[in-house]
Formats: sequence, C-alpha cells, structure tokens
Amino acid sequence: MAPEIKYTKIFIDNEWVNSKSGKTFDTICPHNESVIAKVAEGDKADIDLAVAAAKRAFHRNSEWRLLDASARSRLLFKFADLMERDMEYLAELESYDNGMVLSVAKNTLSGVGKRIRYLASLADKIQGDTIPIDGDLFSFTLKQPVGVCGLILPWNFPILMFLNKVVTALTSGCTVVVKPAEQTPLTALALAALLAEAGVPRGVVNVVPGYGETAGAALTLHPDVAKISFTGSVEVGKLIQQAAGRNNLKRVTLELGGKSPLIIMNDADLNIAVPYAANGVFLHQGQICVAASRVYVQSGVYDKFVEAAVQHARNLKVGDPNDAATNNGPQIDETQLKRTLEYVEKGKNDGAKLMTGGKRVGNKGYYVEPTVFADVKDEMAIAKDEIFGPVQSILKFDTLEEVIDRANNTKYGLAAGIFTTSIENALQYSKHVEAGTVWVNTYLMGGVQVPFGGYKESGVGRENGLNAVDAYLEVKTVTMALSKKF
Ligand code: NAD
Repeated sequence: MAPEIKYTKIFIDNEWVNSKSGKTFDTICPHNESVIAKVAEGDKADIDLAVAAAKRAFHRNSEWRLLDASARSRLLFKFADLMERDMEYLAELESYDNGMVLSVAKNTLSGVGKRIRYLASLADKIQGDTIPIDGDLFSFTLKQPVGVCGLILPWNFPILMFLNKVVTALTSGCTVVVKPAEQTPLTALALAALLAEAGVPRGVVNVVPGYGETAGAALTLHPDVAKISFTGSVEVGKLIQQAAGRNNLKRVTLELGGKSPLIIMNDADLNIAVPYAANGVFLHQGQICVAASRVYVQSGVYDKFVEAAVQHARNLKVGDPNDAATNNGPQIDETQLKRTLEYVEKGKNDGAKLMTGGKRVGNKGYYVEPTVFADVKDEMAIAKDEIFGPVQSILKFDTLEEVIDRANNTKYGLAAGIFTTSIENALQYSKHVEAGTVWVNTYLMGGVQVPFGGYKESGVGRENGLNAVDAYLEVKTVTMALSKKF
C-alpha cells in the first residue's frame, strides 16, 4: 500500500502555505509513472517570504540566536528520535517518490539517528582561539554562524542530503531555506514537520518546493542569503558560483558529479573486487555521485574479471522497489531513462563491447537493465561523462603508473578505489589519485565521521567530519587595546 502523503505545501515560519502564484506541480512515481501528489510550486515570491522568515529568525535577539549551543544539540537529538520513530514511514515515502529500492531506503535510514547526533553534538564544541598578538593588545576569535543559508538538494538521496546540509547548518546556529529537487519534494516536507515537532522555532527551517530555474535561482540571487550549499550537477554548480559572484559573494559549497575510477590489480581478490565493483555502479541504479563508473582492470585478470562482472550483472533482479527480491529499481524520471539509453547507444557506436543489458525493461516505469561494457577506451563518452545510470564501463591497463595518469585524466575528482593485496600499490594510488575519497579493498563505505567532497570540478568544500560546521561559520577576530602587554 502506498504511504500516506501528509504534506504538499510550502513550509514557512512553521506553517503550511500555498504558493503565492497558486501553482502546483506533479511529483511522479518512477515505478509506474502515476502522479503521487500535486505539490505547491514555489518561485521567487515564495523564496522572498521564506528568506524573510529565516532572516527574522536569525535576528540577534531571536529565540534561536539566544538558545544555548547545547540546547541546539538537544533539539536536534529530539529530531533524531522522531526520525527513528517514523523510520518505516520515511523509508516508504522515500522509495515511493524516488524509486529507491525499499531495502536500500531502509538501509540508508538505519544510520540517520547516528548521523544527526554526531553532527548535532558539534554545536557546543564550536570555539575560537586566544591569540598571542604582538603589542599591548589582546586578541581572540569568535566563530559565528554565517546567516541565512540556501540549501539546494538533489533527487538521488533526498533524505540523506537534507540531513547533511540542514543538521549541519542548524548545529552551526544558521537558519535555512531548503529547495528540494522537483522530482522528490515529499520527504523534505515530512522532515520539516518533524523539525517543527522537535521544537525548532518559527522561521529557522523553511522548505520551498519548486523548480531550479525559478525557486532555486531566486535563492542563489537573493541578497539576504549568506551561503548556498548545493549538491547536483556540475553545470548547475557553475551557475550557482556565477550567481554568487554577480551579487553578494555568497559563500558557496558544492558537491557535484563524478566519473570515479576503480582499479583492479592483478593481485586483487576477485571474489571481493567483483561484487564491490558491481555494487559501486549498480546500487540505486547508478544514481550515485561516487559511482564506480570507470573500472580499470589490469591485463592479467582482465578476462576473468569481465566474465565474473557480466555474470554478476545478469543475476541482478530489476523490478518493483517494494519487492524484497529486487536489486535494481527504476531511474528517477524519463529524462534519466533516456539519458542512460542514449549513452548505451554511444557506447555501442564508439566500439565498446556490450556484454549484457543495455535495454529498457518493460514499458511502464523508468527501468533499465544493468549494463556492462568491456573494451572501453578512455576517449569514449561512456568513459568520460557521468551517466548516472546502471552502466559499468570496463577498461584494460598494464601498469599502476599508467593507470594513475589515466584515472586522473578527467575533469572530475570525487572518489576513487583500488583492489590490491599490495600495501605499496594501495598507498601510491591513494596518494596520487586526484579524488576527495579513496577506497582500498572496499567501495561506497562511508560514515558521517569522515569528510566528504570533491577535487577539481567535483566540488568545493567538504561535508561531514569534525570540521563540517566550518562551512557554515565565519571567523571574527576581536582585538582590544590594553594598558600593558598581556
Ligand atoms: P541538477 O543539478 O539540475 O539539480 C539539482 C538541484 O538543483 C535541484 O534541486 C534543481 O531544482 C536545482 N537547480 C537546477 N537548476 C538550478 C538553477 N539554475 N539554480 C539553482 N538551482 C537549480 O541535477 P539534475 O537535473 O537533477 O540531474 C542532472 C545530473 O546531475 C545527473 O545526471 C547527474 O549527473 C548529476 N547529479 C549529481 C548528483 C550528486 O549527488 N552529485 C545528484 C543529482 C544529480
């Protein structure tokens, strides 16, 4: 049975309101293409109201600004409790709106309590320094919340992305306006309701569903927004930096795409490497920014790896996200379905060897077969572009030196991996590959405790880890004159 849809309006000042224009947009179920709900379509007018609410909530005398830092933590701990209470419902809602396989949604959500509590516990550890400045002076620093933050979310992991950004911003003492992706607005609205239930004061969290070119762009151009945190495509990431440059030089952090290289050395244990490589590119139908979408296999194990990878892909069951036996659900929408199938055609036309998959599954819902290409060459589109679909591209290499250069020959730099039993190989590769995350003999393993972000065009800044809050803080230096040396 489909989960109940409780919230479809805009959330401003802890109240549910229609869009100023009265417009709505459809959110579509990727499994069967049905309309799940009509959602209020926010645009500039609604963003203006939301930013005004967030600005009021950030006033120096507001309830939020006068809360103890430890009280901010407690409030977010309460939010974690509420998420855990509603875990089943939230997983079902995420799966319904996004097409995420239900077991994957449940698995993703099983760690959210820990994630929220880790980030929230940083609130009362935000502290400045006292500095031994020269002269008869006393200097100290304050770390202060940057102000109203615009948080623009992608559709691939809507709940996780909401938490990484919103919880960190609130921990830092900021107020926020969230713009969820138009494909997946529902869980962000459900989480806003839980934050209000946890006791977050009016105006601290506002959520405006709508399109990127209207609501999203209005947020990036708003003079009262001090910072944008964005996850999504490189193309839009660049627009956001340009918008910041054109108006008030907003602080910008960006988590963008990737074309992550995974290296399989001759000495790797293929029993482990093959399933990790497959999971790295097929989990969530390949709609993962760190997807292992370039697999470089050393010549000594190349044929064996390709054979096992093809077998693995063929064993994956594509189907209804609610079915317990399903491995792969649908792509998010028709655009991503077409994009994936177009890349399959490009791969074939460019001369890569299609080993399995490559076709749409059924004619209702946005399903694609898990696809494996062998004999892929570096210059082919399927080796260069982020597909964001279930397409594994396998390339051959001879030496580690050679493959490090080839791995780095990309505009991206989000993640990388290596399977080897040699410590030397693992360390040399980890040092020289240009990527924000490197996995050795594993892939896709992460935690809120470790920083996450990209080199090169894969992003600016880091989320998570002990320094997560820094992206939402300003450092203020205070220097006082004294009558003698302090
Ligand atoms: P996108 O970058 O277009 O959208 C992401 C978010 O940005 C959405 O909320 C969208 O409404 C908003 N947005 C779009 N245009 C905007 C603008 N001009 N100003 C402000 N906000 C704007 O991503 P998409 O179209 O959903 O997906 C396209 C590609 O992006 C994918 O194929 C994939 O390569 C990449 N992607 C990456 C991630 C990631 O986690 N790094 C996530 C989703 C998509």
